[in-house]
Amino acid sequence: MTGAPVELPAPVRRRPRRPERLLGQNSELREDGVWGWTLPALAARLPDGTTVKTCPAAGVCASACYARNGSYLIPSVAARHVENLRYVVEDLPGWTRQMSAELAHQRYRGGWIRIHDSGDFFSPAYLAAWLRIMAFRPWVSFYCYTKELTLFREMVEPAPPRNFRWVYSYGGREDHLLDPARDRVADVFPDEASITGAGWHSQDRSDLLAVLGPAPVGIPANNIPRFRNRMAGRTFRQWQAERDGRRAAPGS
Ligand code: SF4
Repeated sequence: MTGAPVELPAPVRRRPRRPERLLGQNSELREDGVWGWTLPALAARLPDGTTVKTCPAAGVCASACYARNGSYLIPSVAARHVENLRYVVEDLPGWTRQMSAELAHQRYRGGWIRIHDSGDFFSPAYLAAWLRIMAFRPWVSFYCYTKELTLFREMVEPAPPRNFRWVYSYGGREDHLLDPARDRVADVFPDEASITGAGWHSQDRSDLLAVLGPAPVGIPANNIPRFRNRMAGRTFRQWQAERDGRRAAPGS
């Protein structure tokens, strides 16, 4: 049989539906008047099969991560966090524009944004996008907990935005680079009594105390039995130091 080849229609590439609003509030953030942006904790697989590590410097914290439990696992919630990540990975300029536009709204003027209820600054390009957003929106304040110490040393510490506060949180693979005498640090403790006993300062009353209150900052562990069992009465810092020590031991 002869004739012109049959032209097949081009495969339809569906544009992903982008969320209308990027920032949200859970009950705790709402009490503090804070808005948040969230990624999946630790790692997530995108619809195209790519796996993205969203907390590259996570250490022991991943074994007792509040965000890999409870309401974070509700399918609609987990799917939303994956969509957030997908947006950032597939269209960082578009996401940056949308986030900046959203932050221009009057409701955020003079307010605080918590970057990452879960997840972390997983790439230099993503951190750079946030730094640009902060520069575009000087009347909004931003804060975060992070374990991405190397990135912050290189990209944030030399010229920190005036409207950005952060606290380095223990329990990560870069703990050994932290210097509590110089760095603002936070650690997860088994309970309030152990925070006070160590002379640290609890942020339990308000999450903003993590960056605005006295330091070093103590975070009481969530009451999740299997995580408490894993912590075994240690803080994240102690737990991570034990793990690092075992790995450094000869023959390990
Ligand atoms: S860095 Fe935070 S969100 Fe990521 S695994 Fe550790 S505790 Fe969970």
